[in-house]
Formats: sequence, C-alpha cells, structure tokens
Amino acid sequence: MSVLSIIRDCLDALLHPSARTDALTCARHRAFIAPRLLGSLAAFAVFPAYLAMRGAPSALEVGALAWLIAPILLSWFLSRTGYYEGAYALSSLALSALIMAVAIETGGMESFAAVWLVVIPIEASLSASRRVVVFAALLALGCAAALILIGDFGWLPPPESSPALRVSLMGVGVASATLYASVIAFAADALARTSVTLLSREEERYRLLARNMSDVISRHRRNGAVMFISPAAESLLGVPAAQLHEHGLFERVHVADRPAYLTALSDAARGTEVGVEFRLRRDTPEDVCGSTHAVDFIWVEMRCRPLDRAGSSSLGSDAEVVAVMRDVTDRKLQEQALDLARSAAEQADAAKTRFLATMSHELRTPLNAIIGFSEMLMQEQALMLNAGRRREYSQLINDSGQHLLSVVNGILDMSKMESGNFEIAPEPFAPRAALLNCCNLLALRARENGVDLSADAPQDLPDVTGDPRAFKQIVLNLVSNAIKFTERGGKVTVAAAVEGVRLVLRVTDNGVGIAADDLKRIGDPFFQAGKTYQRRHEGTGLGLSIVKSLVNLHAGEMSIQSKLDEGTTVTVALPLTFALPDGGKITTLAPAARTVQSGQAFQVKKSA
Ligand code: ADP
Repeated sequence: MSVLSIIRDCLDALLHPSARTDALTCARHRAFIAPRLLGSLAAFAVFPAYLAMRGAPSALEVGALAWLIAPILLSWFLSRTGYYEGAYALSSLALSALIMAVAIETGGMESFAAVWLVVIPIEASLSASRRVVVFAALLALGCAAALILIGDFGWLPPPESSPALRVSLMGVGVASATLYASVIAFAADALARTSVTLLSREEERYRLLARNMSDVISRHRRNGAVMFISPAAESLLGVPAAQLHEHGLFERVHVADRPAYLTALSDAARGTEVGVEFRLRRDTPEDVCGSTHAVDFIWVEMRCRPLDRAGSSSLGSDAEVVAVMRDVTDRKLQEQALDLARSAAEQADAAKTRFLATMSHELRTPLNAIIGFSEMLMQEQALMLNAGRRREYSQLINDSGQHLLSVVNGILDMSKMESGNFEIAPEPFAPRAALLNCCNLLALRARENGVDLSADAPQDLPDVTGDPRAFKQIVLNLVSNAIKFTERGGKVTVAAAVEGVRLVLRVTDNGVGIAADDLKRIGDPFFQAGKTYQRRHEGTGLGLSIVKSLVNLHAGEMSIQSKLDEGTTVTVALPLTFALPDGGKITTLAPAARTVQSGQAFQVKKSA
C-alpha cells in the first residue's frame, strides 16, 4: 500500500458520515480538509528547526504558530459536524484575523499583509456557496475599512522597517498572495473537473441502466408528446426510437385506446400516479423492408407519474410525466383465452341444461304415449277395445316411435356435426323440384294447422351443385318451423331465386316472431326462444342449428330477420356450385362466428 493511499484512507476516515453517501460532497470535504491538515502539520514539523535557527520567537512568530492550529481546528469542525458552508465561513474568519494581526503590526493598509485581504473571497469561492462568498467579500471589505480607520486614528504602531525593506516585504506579500490565489484556482479547477467526471459517470450509469432495461422509459409533455424514450422501445415496437418522439408514439396507440392514454398522461401531470393498459402498433420486420404492410398490435401496461424536478413547483401547464411501459401481450392473451374458455364453459353448461330440459320433455312425452297405449292394447279384452280403437292406439304408438326416431336422429346429426364427422356429398340437382317436393311433404301439416303454404320458385331456376339431402333438410326444417310458429289463418311463403353466384332461399311467415334478445342466440344447439310463447310448440331446439351447420358446410350464409308478433324471414344463400376441397371430404367446423344485425337479425358467417 502506497503512502498516498494510506494518507487517502486516513483522510476518508475523517470525513463526516453525511459526506460519504455522495461522491461529489465527499470530494469537496476531502479538498477542504486535506490541504489544511497536511499544510498545518508540515508547518508544525518544520517550526522546531526554524526556532533552532532563529532562537527565541518574537510575538509575531508566536502568533503565527498559534494561527497554524486554526486550519486543524477547522478540519476537525468539518469532520465532526459535516457543515461545509460553516467550515468555509470559519476559515474566512481565521484568515482575516491573521491578516489583520499581521497588517496592524506592519503598517496597516500599507502593510504587505493587506493585499492578502483579496484572497479571503477567493478562498471562499471554493465552497461553491454564494452565501459564503458574499460573507467572505463583506468580511474582507470590513477588514480593509477597519485598517483604514485604525490608520486614520493613528493607532498603528510606528513602522520599524526601512522603506526599502517595506517595498521588499510588499513584493513578498503580493507574490505569496498571488501564489495562494493560484493554488486556490487550481484547486477550484480540480474540483470542477471532479464534479464533471462524477456527473458524466453517473449519467453513463443511468444511460446504461435505461439501455439494458427491457421496460421502456419515456418522458412526456402533458399533451402526450414524447421528449425522451429509452432504446428498449426499438425492440418493443420495431422502429428507431427517434420516430417515436413528439407524437410518434401517440400515432401508434390504437385509436380506441387513445382517450385512455391521453387521460392517464394528463392525470399524471396533475400529480397522480396512474396505470393504463392500451394497444400499440408494432412494425413487423416486413414493414421495415417495405415489402408488405403487416399491422400487429401489442398490449402494453404503462405506469406514469409526474416528473419531480423541483417538488410540486414543476406541476402546472408545462408539467412533465415519466412513464414506464412493458409488454403485457402474453398476459392479455391468456386473460382473453380464459374469458373465452369461461364463456364456452358457461355456454356448454347452459346447453347441457337446455338439453336436459328439452329431452326430458321430448323423450318422455312419446315414451309415455308408447307405454300407455301399448298397456291399453295388452289389456284390450278387459277394456273391450274395438278394432277402430286398436288401430287408433297403434297409430299413436307408431307416431310416437317416429317422433322419437326423428329426435334421436337430430341429436346424432348434431353430434356428428359438432365433432366434425358429418360428411356431405355434392352433386348437381334441381333446387326447384327439391323445394316443391318438401312443400308437398309439409302441405298436409300446413292444412291441419290452418296455415297457407305457398312456394315461389321460377321455372328456369338453374341446377345447383351441393348435397341434395342437406338441401332438403334445410328446406324441411325451415318450412316446418315456419308452419309450427304461425297461428291459424297465417301465411308461409317459400321463395328461391338466383342472386349473383348464389341461390337464395327465403322462408317467410307472419307468425309469432322472435324477440330481439332471443334472436342473438337462435341457432345455438337446444336453444328455444323465450317463455313468451310458453312453449306451446314441441321441438328440440336442434332444427336451426342443424340448418346452420349444413349451410356452413356448403360455404353459405344464413340470416334471420324477425319481429315479435309480426313474423320471421329466414334467408339462406348457397353457392350455385359447391366443390369439395382437396381430399374430397368436408366436415363440420366449430360453430361459426355470429354477428347481430341491428338487434333484429344474426348472420352465420362463411367458415374459413
Ligand atoms: P325447435 O325444435 O324448437 O323448432 P329449432 O332449432 O328449429 O328448434 O328452432 C329453435 C327455436 O327458434 C324454436 O324453438 C323457436 O323458438 C324459434 N324459431 C325457429 N323458427 C321460427 C319461426 N319461423 N318463427 C318463430 N320462432 C322460430
């Protein structure tokens, strides 16, 4: 360990604890203590040799020796109290006391020591405190005035030295004062360099911190304009940070999220700490090359707070805000997936409840009929049933069995469609003939219900390519629904026409209609519209969802317009020519996306 580092360690041990926390304060305290302590100790060390050479000391020499203790006391004061300005003020006082003592002894204002008064404010300037410098300057001026007054009152001792000696002493005084002032200037320069080095080191440390953080740090004006943004933004958004300055970042905020973004910044400028989540547009690598224009949004969470520059005084119209942003896209996607899963689970639960409720009715009713009437037939002797009754009961058992079969078939079809195992076989067929055939099949039921059923299909309706069985099932389901939900005296119309490259089928009735709330869910498996109709009509709630899936399989669209008590129109649009994708097999897809149109209709979108 070198002598210098030992001295340095000893000096550091003398520093007041409050000075050790900050590097610049530490350097200043060291610069105050070191020269005073070392200078005084060195002077003390040589003083015995001086006395040995000079003999008994004069009063002035004793005074000078006593003064040498002052810097040690000042160093001790700073070391104990850490009061830097106070130490400098005391130093100015000690220096001025010495100068006054020597000057009074050696001719007042004409003394070589008077020139040293200039050094007092210069030395005080090292404190970097305006108060101390003003104090030192006033002190020096006061001492000069006192010397003049003492001289004017003739209280000065008569000069002992010859004019020639006085001139040489003045020379020594000026030279030593200049030398001391130069030393102070060097010390000030060294301190300034130290503070610049320390500041730039600190700045570099913060810059490194900002560069290496994955979170983005930014500084904003109250209106959201970016004044600084850390380089992490480049990897987050795929653009140079410079492009995000001013309103560059704002332009990347999703239009729907812009109000929330601006509100958060202006709230933060007013002094509140705010957090906000919004979407930011990110440039994909293709964007940068300019070859394609891919738009990609990420979710970010931004926490912002006012920039505390001068306490609360910085809050106001020009208040600035510091924000820390981080990518939370993964979390958001997880939340969305969770929401989807939750609503899917809720829907599945509701579907299960609906299924159980419907099935208990739809299966029990025909089963009860089958069991009841078959028991009666078994006891025909006891009940004395005639042939007509027996035929009637057998017919009822048969009808109930047929109904059960259709219910079970419906469930099986739906389940195949939902599991993706329902296959269709497209072939060319005449839609007009198929449509009239279905209407003929349902004509009897329409008559029984007192409903007028009419078909409107042009003679020249072209052949279409699709699955004819599926087409018939679509028509049968829609028309039987229209008959079922139309009151006696009502009217059902089935129309088919070519519109563009599609065959459009419309089944219109003026029946009970569907409430807007129910309309959103019509087509969900087992869903049956409202209590309004008090379920006067039997059914499983599968007909429309089967239609919906069949239409999807043909890459078609289905929409429903309906008004309660006014009637319903179901529109199905199928491509004139439907070809199977490669592989020759098409299977049902997951339930299609549904859009509600003005609360009165929904549309089954074409599946991808
Ligand atoms: P369901 O076996 O109950 O008829 P669907 O899937 O065919 O099952 O229909 C679902 C529900 O949609 C029906 O229960 C009914 O409430 C409503 N609905 C379907 N078609 C019509 C229509 N033409 N008029 C009024 N309501 C209808």
